[in-house]
Amino acid sequence: MACRASAIWDEGYLSYDFGEHPLSPVRLDLTVRLARELGVLDRLEIVRPAAADERQLLEVHDADYLAAVRRAGSDPSFTGYGLGTEDDPVFPGMYEVSALIAGGSATAARLVSEGTVDHAVNIAGGLHHAMRRYASGFCVFNDVVLGIRTLLAGGAARVAYVDIDAHHGDGVQVAFWDEPRVLTISLHQDPRFLFPGTGLPTETGGRGAEGSAVNVALPPGTDDDGWLRAFAAVVPGALRSFGPDVLVTQCGCDTHHEDPLANLQLSIDGQRTAIQLLHRLAHELTGGKWVAYGGGGYGVVRCVPRIWTHLLAEASGSPVDPATETPRGWRQHLRGRGVRSALPDTMGEGRQPQITEWAPGGESWLDRAIGATRNASYPLLGLDPDDPRD
Ligand SMILES: [Zn+2]
Ligand SMILES: [Zn+2]
Repeated sequence: MACRASAIWDEGYLSYDFGEHPLSPVRLDLTVRLARELGVLDRLEIVRPAAADERQLLEVHDADYLAAVRRAGSDPSFTGYGLGTEDDPVFPGMYEVSALIAGGSATAARLVSEGTVDHAVNIAGGLHHAMRRYASGFCVFNDVVLGIRTLLAGGAARVAYVDIDAHHGDGVQVAFWDEPRVLTISLHQDPRFLFPGTGLPTETGGRGAEGSAVNVALPPGTDDDGWLRAFAAVVPGALRSFGPDVLVTQCGCDTHHEDPLANLQLSIDGQRTAIQLLHRLAHELTGGKWVAYGGGGYGVVRCVPRIWTHLLAEASGSPVDPATETPRGWRQHLRGRGVRSALPDTMGEGRQPQITEWAPGGESWLDRAIGATRNASYPLLGLDPDDPRD
């Protein structure tokens, strides 16, 4: 597939830095270095983001929250609005870099909306937990909400959002809860066992937008095949029924089996398959219009760089074979930075993920979880929860 794709990138993104914290900007730096060494960046148009201005940010956040983020950036003792907490500590320049990342996600949306490219990727984006008037879950500004609003303002009649992060995409769901033009689908670890505690199958959208939210609550320990079974049983059917003009995806990779913050068990190979499926759905349903953002992912060395390099490569239309060796120069760079742990030798983990079909009546926790989502959401989308072909 020859795909016209852009990557939105600016070294300035690396200032989104909470200090001693799981969300380290090193993961973005190592991703870009890996993608560059593999030649992936040569197949993409690299576009520098313009920071989101106040008018744009006011579409997503309240004015007093924006003022609070500004103050927090110059006052290390600031607390309030979710800021100055363990999850969202304050740091100098917080407003400016958060606005740069949000602007990058708006830029990605605009390029796809205007037809400049088919696909646009902003790996620094995907900060899906930020709320209208408070920071949450490492997220200051909700760049995803800004991206989707940019698409709607650009003429999209219907936008579908698929969030594959290990955590529920709560900030995006809340923002579009009453909005029938936006379908939000989130697959995540069961919220009874993981932050943010929302994302149950019974959350299906507000009044006038019934069926516009879809939630799959996966059992802890779900592996590649289980995750892909849930995806195949819910996502394509819901998307086909909704009929979006554009697909937006949050590609958080904290679903990985080594991720320190969540308890899913996907491999790089399984995550790569998920991204391939999303790419294919964009070509099937939206004429290829696909906006992809990053998200969570705390395996800074062994997970994030590989999977988001696969994301960039997939968007370029030239996927990287998982058997490809990781470049020597990249590994040397890691050793030079003092990384002593085992480095990945190849771009995959040698797994062969399988997509197995879900059928109603399965008694496993996973099959019951899939059934719960289909029972809650499918009738609202005009689909039959018990028909596996839907
Ligand atoms: Zn494509
Ligand atoms: Zn996450």
